[in-house]
Amino acid sequence: MHYYQLISHVVDSLLKDIQEFKNLTNVSVKEAYETLLATVLDGVYGRKVIALQNPVLNKISEKTHRIFEILAEILNRGLYGLSICDALREVIDIVTLYPNRSHVIVCDALAIHDILLLSYEFEARIRPIFAVNPGGKTKTYEYMIKQCPIFRGTLIREVDEPSLTMIARIVAQIIGASSEKYDEFDRCIHSSQIKDFQGLVTLLYQALEKLLIKVKIHLNAGFTVLMLADHGYDINLTNYALYHRWSPRAGPSLSILAPLLVIK
Ligand SMILES: [Zn+2]
Repeated sequence: MHYYQLISHVVDSLLKDIQEFKNLTNVSVKEAYETLLATVLDGVYGRKVIALQNPVLNKISEKTHRIFEILAEILNRGLYGLSICDALREVIDIVTLYPNRSHVIVCDALAIHDILLLSYEFEARIRPIFAVNPGGKTKTYEYMIKQCPIFRGTLIREVDEPSLTMIARIVAQIIGASSEKYDEFDRCIHSSQIKDFQGLVTLLYQALEKLLIKVKIHLNAGFTVLMLADHGYDINLTNYALYHRWSPRAGPSLSILAPLLVIK
């Protein structure tokens, strides 16, 4: 089986666990986010910031861990080359299946725990795909995406350093959609407000809530939303500061996962 199929397989089963978690709990969306974030930190970094009391959370943690094991294999074997282009092709194919108008949102940074909350909110309406951005940086993404066959004959190919705004605009042009860039998460990365885990949850949830509102407005107006992100972000567990980069000597990284998703 292809590595990306392996990841998709784990992600599909992860989404079922998220629905189970939602059915079992009766908490606010922000509390759900706090729990999901803590679960991902447990799965990826092996750090328990809060006790995971619900058995379904242990399943979610194990599956997140599994995704990062598969990613380590992908990186060790240098197989990430085409992943962003393949993933982009796949989400564009999904979007064009629907007769609705679409809206493209390109996020500067969006991590797996954010996607888990989107799946908690939008349930079966969401189809996430994860690509690998091996450097975990915007530049790496812009460089990689520029090479995608889908952009043949477009302006992106001619520009040395296409910006995320330009990428959003050109993807939108290809599928006849409107577009915008969302950079609240990148702002969180440069924030100095974080003092502890609660502060981290509050800051990230504010960014996510604004994104949720944007998505809901478009869904209510009959749009399909195509969301692309250039990379995730990592959390320094000593001071809860956020950063996004990855080097081959470093441990597991959230930054290297670039999520792409369709919400209908
Ligand atoms: Zn970025």
